[in-house]
Amino acid sequence: MAELRPPIESGAPDPMPYMHPVMVKNYGKWAFHSHPKPGVLYHRAESGDEIWTVKAGTARQLDHYSVRELADIADKYADGFVRFTIRSNIEYMVSDESKVEPLIKELNDKGYPIGGTANSVSMIAHTQGFLHCDIPGSDASGAAKAVMDELYEEFIAHEMPNRVKLSTSCCEINCGGQADIAIIMQHTKPPKINHDLVANVCERPSVVARCPVAAIRPALVNGKPSLEVDEKKCICCGACYPPCPPMQINDPEHSKFAIWVGGKNSNARSKPTFHKLVASGLPNNLPRLPEVAEVVKKILYTYKADGKPWERMNEWIERIGWPAFFEKTGLPFTKYHIDDWRGSRVNLNASTHIRF
Ligand code: SF4
Ligand code: SF4
Repeated sequence: MAELRPPIESGAPDPMPYMHPVMVKNYGKWAFHSHPKPGVLYHRAESGDEIWTVKAGTARQLDHYSVRELADIADKYADGFVRFTIRSNIEYMVSDESKVEPLIKELNDKGYPIGGTANSVSMIAHTQGFLHCDIPGSDASGAAKAVMDELYEEFIAHEMPNRVKLSTSCCEINCGGQADIAIIMQHTKPPKINHDLVANVCERPSVVARCPVAAIRPALVNGKPSLEVDEKKCICCGACYPPCPPMQINDPEHSKFAIWVGGKNSNARSKPTFHKLVASGLPNNLPRLPEVAEVVKKILYTYKADGKPWERMNEWIERIGWPAFFEKTGLPFTKYHIDDWRGSRVNLNASTHIRF
Protein backbone atom coordinates (compact mmCIF):
# COMPACT_ATOMS: atom_id res chain seq x y z
CA MET A 1 0.00 0.00 0.00
CA ALA A 2 1.32 3.42 -0.95
CA GLU A 3 2.50 5.56 1.91
CA LEU A 4 0.10 8.38 2.76
CA ARG A 5 1.43 11.82 2.04
CA PRO A 6 1.65 13.82 5.31
CA PRO A 7 -0.39 17.02 5.48
CA ILE A 8 1.42 20.25 4.63
CA GLU A 9 1.41 22.50 7.68
CA SER A 10 0.80 26.06 6.54
CA GLY A 11 -0.47 27.73 9.72
CA ALA A 12 1.46 29.73 12.29
CA PRO A 13 5.00 28.36 12.68
CA ASP A 14 6.14 26.61 15.87
CA PRO A 15 7.17 29.50 18.17
CA MET A 16 9.55 27.49 20.34
CA PRO A 17 12.70 27.79 18.16
CA TYR A 18 12.32 31.59 18.21
CA MET A 19 11.64 31.95 21.92
CA HIS A 20 14.24 33.03 24.47
CA PRO A 21 15.76 29.87 26.09
CA VAL A 22 14.69 30.96 29.60
CA MET A 23 11.11 31.23 28.36
CA VAL A 24 11.26 27.84 26.64
CA LYS A 25 12.65 26.21 29.78
CA ASN A 26 9.94 27.69 32.00
CA TYR A 27 7.05 27.52 29.55
CA GLY A 28 3.80 27.27 31.53
CA LYS A 29 5.66 27.31 34.85
CA TRP A 30 5.69 30.96 35.85
CA ALA A 31 5.15 31.78 39.52
CA PHE A 32 4.25 35.48 39.18
CA HIS A 33 4.92 38.63 37.24
CA SER A 34 5.11 42.32 38.09
CA HIS A 35 5.48 45.62 36.34
CA PRO A 36 8.47 47.57 37.67
CA LYS A 37 8.11 50.62 35.38
CA PRO A 38 6.46 51.73 32.12
CA GLY A 39 7.50 49.44 29.27
CA VAL A 40 9.16 46.83 31.50
CA LEU A 41 7.66 43.53 32.70
CA TYR A 42 9.27 41.11 35.15
CA HIS A 43 8.51 37.37 35.30
CA ARG A 44 9.77 34.88 37.91
CA ALA A 45 9.45 31.16 37.21
CA GLU A 46 8.81 28.40 39.75
CA SER A 47 12.41 27.30 39.11
CA GLY A 48 13.63 30.73 40.32
CA ASP A 49 14.63 31.83 36.79
CA GLU A 50 13.91 35.48 36.05
CA ILE A 51 13.27 37.39 32.85
CA TRP A 52 12.64 41.06 32.08
CA THR A 53 10.72 42.17 28.98
CA VAL A 54 11.47 45.63 27.60
CA LYS A 55 8.94 47.03 25.13
CA ALA A 56 9.94 49.75 22.66
CA GLY A 57 7.84 51.63 20.11
CA THR A 58 8.94 51.65 16.48
CA ALA A 59 8.03 53.79 13.48
CA ARG A 60 6.07 50.77 12.16
CA GLN A 61 7.31 50.69 8.54
CA LEU A 62 10.97 49.93 9.21
CA ASP A 63 13.81 50.46 6.76
CA HIS A 64 16.48 47.77 6.83
CA TYR A 65 19.00 50.03 8.62
CA SER A 66 16.60 50.25 11.57
CA VAL A 67 15.92 46.50 11.48
CA ARG A 68 19.68 45.83 11.62
CA GLU A 69 20.10 48.37 14.40
CA LEU A 70 17.34 46.70 16.44
CA ALA A 71 18.82 43.25 15.73
CA ASP A 72 22.29 44.41 16.87
CA ILE A 73 20.75 45.65 20.12
CA ALA A 74 19.14 42.21 20.56
CA ASP A 75 22.52 40.50 20.07
CA LYS A 76 24.12 42.80 22.62
CA TYR A 77 21.56 42.55 25.43
CA ALA A 78 18.96 39.84 24.75
CA ASP A 79 20.89 36.82 23.43
CA GLY A 80 19.65 37.64 19.93
CA PHE A 81 15.95 37.11 20.71
CA VAL A 82 13.19 39.62 19.96
CA ARG A 83 9.51 39.54 19.16
CA PHE A 84 7.20 42.04 17.52
CA THR A 85 3.75 42.65 18.97
CA ILE A 86 0.71 43.05 16.73
CA ARG A 87 0.97 46.79 17.39
CA SER A 88 4.48 46.88 15.90
CA ASN A 89 6.30 47.29 19.19
CA ILE A 90 9.52 45.37 19.59
CA GLU A 91 10.09 43.39 22.79
CA TYR A 92 13.47 42.31 24.15
CA MET A 93 13.65 39.50 26.72
CA VAL A 94 16.59 39.91 29.11
CA SER A 95 17.61 37.25 31.64
CA ASP A 96 20.29 39.35 33.35
CA GLU A 97 18.98 42.28 35.42
CA SER A 98 22.20 44.25 35.01
CA LYS A 99 21.49 44.57 31.28
CA VAL A 100 18.00 46.08 31.63
CA GLU A 101 18.92 49.73 32.25
CA PRO A 102 21.75 49.81 29.65
CA LEU A 103 19.30 48.32 27.12
CA ILE A 104 16.71 51.00 27.92
CA LYS A 105 19.37 53.71 27.62
CA GLU A 106 20.60 52.49 24.25
CA LEU A 107 17.06 52.22 22.87
CA ASN A 108 16.23 55.73 24.12
CA ASP A 109 19.50 57.14 22.74
CA LYS A 110 18.63 55.69 19.34
CA GLY A 111 15.13 57.21 19.41
CA TYR A 112 12.99 54.24 20.42
CA PRO A 113 10.62 55.10 23.30
CA ILE A 114 10.04 52.55 26.07
CA GLY A 115 6.43 52.14 27.14
CA GLY A 116 3.07 50.95 25.88
CA THR A 117 2.29 48.73 28.87
CA ALA A 118 -0.52 48.83 31.49
CA ASN A 119 -2.50 52.09 31.67
CA SER A 120 -0.64 53.88 28.90
CA VAL A 121 -1.65 54.69 25.34
CA SER A 122 -0.43 51.65 23.45
CA MET A 123 0.94 51.86 19.91
CA ILE A 124 -1.72 52.33 17.22
CA ALA A 125 -2.76 49.16 15.40
CA HIS A 126 -3.26 49.93 11.76
CA THR A 127 -4.26 48.43 8.45
CA GLN A 128 -1.90 48.08 5.51
CA GLY A 129 -2.35 51.36 3.66
CA PHE A 130 -0.53 52.33 0.50
CA LEU A 131 2.27 49.78 0.92
CA HIS A 132 0.28 46.56 0.67
CA CYS A 133 -3.35 47.16 -0.29
CA ASP A 134 -4.99 48.12 -3.58
CA ILE A 135 -7.91 50.15 -2.21
CA PRO A 136 -6.76 52.47 0.59
CA GLY A 137 -8.11 55.99 0.78
CA SER A 138 -5.21 57.09 2.97
CA ASP A 139 -1.96 55.89 4.44
CA ALA A 140 -2.86 54.04 7.64
CA SER A 141 0.69 53.31 8.79
CA GLY A 142 1.86 56.87 8.16
CA ALA A 143 -1.17 58.11 10.08
CA ALA A 144 -0.19 55.81 12.98
CA LYS A 145 3.30 57.34 13.09
CA ALA A 146 2.01 60.92 12.83
CA VAL A 147 -0.58 60.54 15.59
CA MET A 148 1.76 58.58 17.89
CA ASP A 149 4.34 61.37 17.58
CA GLU A 150 1.67 63.60 19.17
CA LEU A 151 0.95 61.04 21.90
CA TYR A 152 4.58 60.21 22.74
CA GLU A 153 4.27 61.35 26.36
CA GLU A 154 1.26 59.09 26.93
CA PHE A 155 3.11 56.06 25.53
CA ILE A 156 6.03 56.35 27.94
CA ALA A 157 3.92 57.08 31.06
CA HIS A 158 1.19 55.28 32.99
CA GLU A 159 -1.23 58.13 33.45
CA MET A 160 -4.44 57.02 31.73
CA PRO A 161 -7.36 55.60 33.76
CA ASN A 162 -6.81 52.29 31.96
CA ARG A 163 -5.14 51.02 28.83
CA VAL A 164 -6.03 52.96 25.67
CA LYS A 165 -5.91 51.18 22.33
CA LEU A 166 -6.06 53.12 19.10
CA SER A 167 -6.37 51.98 15.52
CA THR A 168 -6.28 53.51 12.05
CA SER A 169 -8.05 52.04 9.01
CA CYS A 170 -7.58 53.23 5.46
CA CYS A 171 -11.03 52.11 4.29
CA GLU A 172 -14.27 51.54 6.11
CA ILE A 173 -15.21 48.05 5.07
CA ASN A 174 -12.39 45.56 5.43
CA CYS A 175 -9.62 44.96 7.91
CA GLY A 176 -10.00 47.73 10.50
CA GLY A 177 -10.68 46.65 14.08
CA GLN A 178 -12.48 47.89 17.17
CA ALA A 179 -10.56 50.30 19.40
CA ASP A 180 -10.99 52.74 22.26
CA ILE A 181 -10.34 55.42 19.64
CA ALA A 182 -10.45 54.38 15.98
CA ILE A 183 -9.45 56.62 13.08
CA ILE A 184 -11.24 55.43 9.95
CA MET A 185 -11.25 56.60 6.34
CA GLN A 186 -14.74 57.23 5.00
CA HIS A 187 -15.87 58.07 1.50
CA THR A 188 -18.61 60.66 1.29
CA LYS A 189 -19.53 60.62 -2.42
CA PRO A 190 -20.65 57.74 -4.66
CA PRO A 191 -18.07 56.20 -7.03
CA LYS A 192 -17.23 57.87 -10.35
CA ILE A 193 -17.51 55.29 -13.12
CA ASN A 194 -15.16 55.09 -16.09
CA HIS A 195 -17.61 53.45 -18.50
CA ASP A 196 -14.94 52.78 -21.13
CA LEU A 197 -13.17 50.33 -18.83
CA VAL A 198 -15.96 48.55 -16.93
CA ALA A 199 -16.68 45.86 -19.55
CA ASN A 200 -12.96 45.01 -19.91
CA VAL A 201 -12.00 44.98 -16.24
CA CYS A 202 -15.01 44.11 -14.10
CA GLU A 203 -17.07 40.99 -13.67
CA ARG A 204 -20.32 42.87 -13.56
CA PRO A 205 -22.57 40.33 -11.72
CA SER A 206 -20.01 40.11 -8.88
CA VAL A 207 -19.92 43.89 -8.59
CA VAL A 208 -23.73 44.09 -8.51
CA ALA A 209 -23.81 41.37 -5.83
CA ARG A 210 -21.18 43.18 -3.78
CA CYS A 211 -23.28 46.26 -3.05
CA PRO A 212 -24.87 45.99 0.43
CA VAL A 213 -27.81 48.26 -0.47
CA ALA A 214 -28.48 47.00 -4.04
CA ALA A 215 -27.58 50.37 -5.55
CA ILE A 216 -25.72 48.99 -8.60
CA ARG A 217 -27.35 47.65 -11.73
CA PRO A 218 -26.08 46.69 -15.19
CA ALA A 219 -26.47 49.38 -17.87
CA LEU A 220 -25.53 50.09 -21.47
CA VAL A 221 -23.59 53.35 -21.66
CA ASN A 222 -22.51 54.75 -25.05
CA GLY A 223 -23.33 51.37 -26.53
CA LYS A 224 -21.00 49.51 -24.17
CA PRO A 225 -21.96 47.20 -21.30
CA SER A 226 -21.31 48.99 -18.03
CA LEU A 227 -22.84 49.64 -14.61
CA GLU A 228 -24.80 52.45 -13.04
CA VAL A 229 -25.28 53.51 -9.45
CA ASP A 230 -28.49 54.74 -7.87
CA GLU A 231 -26.86 57.59 -5.95
CA LYS A 232 -29.87 58.06 -3.65
CA LYS A 233 -29.35 54.55 -2.31
CA CYS A 234 -25.52 54.50 -2.30
CA ILE A 235 -24.01 54.69 1.19
CA CYS A 236 -20.50 55.40 -0.19
CA CYS A 237 -19.07 52.29 1.46
CA GLY A 238 -16.54 51.61 -1.30
CA ALA A 239 -17.29 47.87 -1.54
CA CYS A 240 -17.68 48.08 -5.33
CA TYR A 241 -14.22 49.56 -5.88
CA PRO A 242 -12.04 46.48 -5.08
CA PRO A 243 -13.72 44.17 -7.63
CA CYS A 244 -14.13 47.02 -10.13
CA PRO A 245 -11.36 49.69 -10.05
CA PRO A 246 -13.08 51.76 -12.78
CA MET A 247 -15.65 52.60 -10.06
CA GLN A 248 -13.20 55.04 -8.46
CA ILE A 249 -14.34 56.19 -5.03
CA ASN A 250 -11.15 57.70 -3.60
CA ASP A 251 -11.29 61.44 -3.83
CA PRO A 252 -8.78 63.98 -2.51
CA GLU A 253 -11.54 66.22 -1.22
CA HIS A 254 -14.45 63.92 -0.41
CA SER A 255 -12.64 60.98 1.19
CA LYS A 256 -12.50 62.03 4.84
CA PHE A 257 -11.46 60.72 8.22
CA ALA A 258 -13.91 59.86 10.97
CA ILE A 259 -13.26 59.09 14.64
CA TRP A 260 -15.09 56.29 16.45
CA VAL A 261 -14.79 55.60 20.18
CA GLY A 262 -15.56 52.96 22.79
CA GLY A 263 -14.76 49.75 20.88
CA LYS A 264 -13.34 46.73 22.69
CA ASN A 265 -12.31 43.42 21.12
CA SER A 266 -11.66 41.26 24.14
CA ASN A 267 -14.08 39.83 26.69
CA ALA A 268 -11.60 40.37 29.53
CA ARG A 269 -13.34 41.87 32.60
CA SER A 270 -16.27 43.19 30.52
CA LYS A 271 -18.01 42.16 27.32
CA PRO A 272 -16.77 43.32 23.90
CA THR A 273 -18.35 46.48 22.51
CA PHE A 274 -18.75 48.16 19.14
CA HIS A 275 -17.15 51.53 18.74
CA LYS A 276 -19.38 54.43 17.68
CA LEU A 277 -18.91 57.43 15.44
CA VAL A 278 -18.27 60.76 17.20
CA ALA A 279 -16.54 62.94 14.59
CA SER A 280 -16.52 62.89 10.81
CA GLY A 281 -15.52 64.97 7.80
CA LEU A 282 -11.92 65.46 8.98
CA PRO A 283 -9.59 66.18 6.05
CA ASN A 284 -7.17 63.54 4.74
CA ASN A 285 -4.36 65.99 5.34
CA LEU A 286 -1.25 63.79 4.98
CA PRO A 287 1.38 63.35 6.20
CA ARG A 288 0.74 64.71 9.72
CA LEU A 289 -3.10 64.72 9.85
CA PRO A 290 -3.22 67.68 12.28
CA GLU A 291 -7.04 67.90 12.34
CA VAL A 292 -7.35 64.19 13.17
CA ALA A 293 -4.68 64.40 15.87
CA GLU A 294 -6.45 67.36 17.46
CA VAL A 295 -9.76 65.48 17.82
CA VAL A 296 -7.98 62.36 19.13
CA LYS A 297 -6.19 64.44 21.76
CA LYS A 298 -9.41 66.20 22.75
CA ILE A 299 -11.10 62.85 23.44
CA LEU A 300 -8.05 61.32 25.07
CA TYR A 301 -7.38 64.16 27.50
CA THR A 302 -11.05 64.49 28.45
CA TYR A 303 -11.04 60.76 29.29
CA LYS A 304 -7.76 61.14 31.18
CA ALA A 305 -9.20 63.94 33.32
CA ASP A 306 -12.68 62.48 33.84
CA GLY A 307 -12.26 58.67 33.80
CA LYS A 308 -12.15 56.78 37.11
CA PRO A 309 -9.21 54.47 37.82
CA TRP A 310 -9.39 51.30 35.71
CA GLU A 311 -12.33 52.55 33.66
CA ARG A 312 -11.87 51.75 29.95
CA MET A 313 -13.03 54.33 27.41
CA ASN A 314 -16.33 52.49 26.76
CA GLU A 315 -17.05 52.18 30.49
CA TRP A 316 -16.38 55.88 31.01
CA ILE A 317 -18.82 56.80 28.23
CA GLU A 318 -21.36 54.31 29.54
CA ARG A 319 -21.15 55.97 32.97
CA ILE A 320 -21.40 59.61 31.87
CA GLY A 321 -23.74 59.06 28.86
CA TRP A 322 -23.38 60.27 25.29
CA PRO A 323 -24.77 63.81 25.88
CA ALA A 324 -22.09 64.38 28.55
CA PHE A 325 -19.44 62.90 26.24
CA PHE A 326 -20.20 65.52 23.58
CA GLU A 327 -20.43 68.31 26.17
CA LYS A 328 -17.16 67.44 27.89
CA THR A 329 -15.14 66.87 24.72
CA GLY A 330 -16.64 69.90 22.98
CA LEU A 331 -17.24 67.84 19.82
CA PRO A 332 -20.35 68.91 17.92
CA PHE A 333 -23.21 66.39 17.66
CA THR A 334 -24.61 66.57 14.12
CA LYS A 335 -27.20 64.76 12.03
CA TYR A 336 -24.35 62.65 10.59
CA HIS A 337 -24.00 60.90 13.95
CA ILE A 338 -27.42 59.34 13.62
CA ASP A 339 -27.29 55.84 12.24
CA ASP A 340 -30.43 55.48 10.16
CA TRP A 341 -29.63 52.06 8.75
CA ARG A 342 -32.74 49.98 9.38
CA GLY A 343 -30.79 46.94 10.70
CA SER A 344 -29.04 48.87 13.45
CA ARG A 345 -32.10 48.84 15.68
CA VAL A 346 -32.02 45.11 16.29
CA ASN A 347 -28.36 44.28 16.36
CA LEU A 348 -25.64 46.91 16.21
CA ASN A 349 -26.97 49.64 18.51
CA ALA A 350 -24.43 51.49 16.48
CA SER A 351 -24.97 55.18 16.90
CA THR A 352 -24.48 57.63 19.72
CA HIS A 353 -27.95 59.21 19.70
CA ILE A 354 -30.09 56.53 21.29
CA ARG A 355 -29.97 52.98 22.58
CA PHE A 356 -32.66 50.29 22.25
S1 SF4 B 1 -8.52 48.93 5.73
FE1 SF4 B 1 -9.22 48.68 3.61
S2 SF4 B 1 -7.80 49.88 2.35
FE2 SF4 B 1 -6.83 49.59 4.34
S3 SF4 B 1 -5.55 47.77 4.09
FE3 SF4 B 1 -7.54 47.07 4.89
S4 SF4 B 1 -8.74 46.57 3.04
FE4 SF4 B 1 -6.98 47.80 2.40
S1 SF4 C 1 -20.06 52.58 -2.77
FE1 SF4 C 1 -21.06 50.88 -1.66
S2 SF4 C 1 -23.23 51.47 -1.59
FE2 SF4 C 1 -22.25 52.74 -3.17
S3 SF4 C 1 -22.55 51.64 -5.05
FE3 SF4 C 1 -20.55 51.02 -4.29
S4 SF4 C 1 -20.99 49.17 -3.10
FE4 SF4 C 1 -22.96 50.20 -3.41
